[in-house]
Amino acid sequence: MIRIIFQREKCIGCNACTEAARYRWRLSRKDGKSILLDSIKKRNFYISIIGDDEWDANKIAAESCPVKIIKLEKI
Ligand code: SF4
Repeated sequence: MIRIIFQREKCIGCNACTEAARYRWRLSRKDGKSILLDSIKKRNFYISIIGDDEWDANKIAAESCPVKIIKLEKI
């Protein structure tokens, strides 16, 4: 399993994560920031637990993020 940790308030809406993993990220029409799908909010972070099969795409998303607010951990 993988834990994604997303610090949404710093998102600049560049679209890189949604390009890398469309099934996990989507840009909000309300505020233009990315949404981590199926996540829960804990303090300032959004957290999602996903399967190992999503590692590659989300690793690209994390590495593509210009403000480095996507973290991935194997759990
Ligand atoms: S790549 Fe980073 S800054 Fe760009 S939309 Fe995704 S979370 Fe936001």
